[in-house]
Amino acid sequence: MIKIFNDLKNELEVFKPIKKGAVSMYVCGVTVYDAPHLGHARSAVAFDLIRKYFEYKGYRVKYVMNYTDVDDKMINRANERGTSIYELAQESITQYEEMQRALFIKSPTVKPRATDEIPDMIKFIQKLDKKGFTYESQGSVYFDTSKMENYKSLFQKKDVSEQDTEEDQFTQSDFAKDKKNIEDFVLWKKEKPGEPSWDSPWGKGRPGWHIECSVMAMKYLGETIDIHGGGKDLKRPHHQNEIAQSESATGKTFVNYWMHNGFLNIDDTKMSKSLGNFISLMDMLKDHSGVFLRYYLISSYYQRPINFSMDKMDQAFLSLKKIQRFYQNLDKYSATKVKSKSVKSISEHKNQIEEFKKQFLDAMDTDFNSAKALGYLFSLINYFNKSIFIKENQISIEIKEDLIEFLEGIDSFLGFINPQIKEEQDESGSIWKERFEKLTNTILDFRKDVKSAKNFELADQIRDLLINAGIKVSDQGNDYSWEIE
Ligand SMILES: [Zn+2]
Repeated sequence: MIKIFNDLKNELEVFKPIKKGAVSMYVCGVTVYDAPHLGHARSAVAFDLIRKYFEYKGYRVKYVMNYTDVDDKMINRANERGTSIYELAQESITQYEEMQRALFIKSPTVKPRATDEIPDMIKFIQKLDKKGFTYESQGSVYFDTSKMENYKSLFQKKDVSEQDTEEDQFTQSDFAKDKKNIEDFVLWKKEKPGEPSWDSPWGKGRPGWHIECSVMAMKYLGETIDIHGGGKDLKRPHHQNEIAQSESATGKTFVNYWMHNGFLNIDDTKMSKSLGNFISLMDMLKDHSGVFLRYYLISSYYQRPINFSMDKMDQAFLSLKKIQRFYQNLDKYSATKVKSKSVKSISEHKNQIEEFKKQFLDAMDTDFNSAKALGYLFSLINYFNKSIFIKENQISIEIKEDLIEFLEGIDSFLGFINPQIKEEQDESGSIWKERFEKLTNTILDFRKDVKSAKNFELADQIRDLLINAGIKVSDQGNDYSWEIE
């Protein structure tokens, strides 16, 4: 039985899926205007763990995570760089998906891009309009929050650590004078010169941020979904507004369980691009493996903030090695049939191991508390190292196989116990890279000989062949250099 801390009610609730054996899950994705940092990785790993834990428990999970590919930050950045928002988005999505692969995050079932869904957003605003929840002002369309009775009480309890989002500040400043109530939010923004825009019944413009998520969640998952997730900073006003517009349009509950991950902080301040205190993920991956970063992020309970510091990383590295060694060593111990006089102690060991396993899974079942669960895993390892390995140096076949099965099972969502398969994949990648470099150099050395023999025609042919294969060759006197185009 899985229990979820539902942020809307501030309560731990038993998870009851809408469809038996299935979970529908929507998580607010990133605004794709820059390379991901460790804060993005935190949210992505947290919800990947939750999704995979459901799968481990036998649920079919449909997981939708969007890309916000039009907003003010994107427009400003694209203008700064003299590129289109489409290209900017493309580049940033590639980087984001590289991060997912590096951290062994399973790709979401659907990854819609906001700009592909604009006709549905327009239809949705029309639906709200017909029901009398909107008004037009200065060419933009707003949601009238005074029409929704419980609007102000949604997600009222704000954590001390939560800060207003940039969108928040923008909405308050730029459009405040055009609104009936200060909380009203824009559904359709009137076009501004130099900004991308789409045709709509209200003239050229673009959708507001909140409407994107409601429309994409409902389109791919239905009018009521099981779980909606995101960072804690999205509770108000983003998720508050998602509820307001979705439930006003359908008259149904939009989301059964709201879940929010804590921030990744540096010196007690949220890591964010706009505050400039971020650590780029690609920089982190230069010094640390993806398996380790995944462990580091999962070793905290997803709801709690992580206070990032290099010292703690060293500690975490030793802890991860301890788990991995334990798993690897299991295979080395001779698993003999145990003599009858040891039978009692074997059954004691088995009971103790069962108890740790149960505690581990209870912690995961109780709102996916991976920090607590890992505590029990370490208890199990310590118990083993003290009581079984050292004293007897042999374990029963049953215990050994049972433990291997357990560890491999939980590794389907933890993803860091048996890094061997993953490392082998990495290594085979680097072996191919080495071979490719060797082959290219061999061909180019041959071309050097061809040039020395004054067969320039053949030398040019070889160069052209390489260019066709995407290898750009530059001659430097007798020597050469090359790069991949
Ligand atoms: Zn969202």
